[in-house]
Amino acid sequence: MSFPIKTCVVCGEEFELKPDKPGFANRCPECSTSEAVESADKSRLSAEERKAESETNEERRRAIRDLLYRKDR
Ligand SMILES: [Zn+2]
Repeated sequence: MSFPIKTCVVCGEEFELKPDKPGFANRCPECSTSEAVESADKSRLSAEERKAESETNEERRRAIRDLLYRKDR
């Protein structure tokens, strides 16, 4: 049994479109997987959460810098 050959719109590779292939029908399995993971990650964090996270990172960087600075003296 053979499957229709499709060309991936992301990387241009040809792939077999299998009925159980996850993701988009016009993307190869590799591109479907990475894209799916990426968009899932993005949608998990709202704009507010992302802002909070970057503020947390900023504070953490500052705390580490203070720590190192104090150690030097
Ligand atoms: Zn691809």
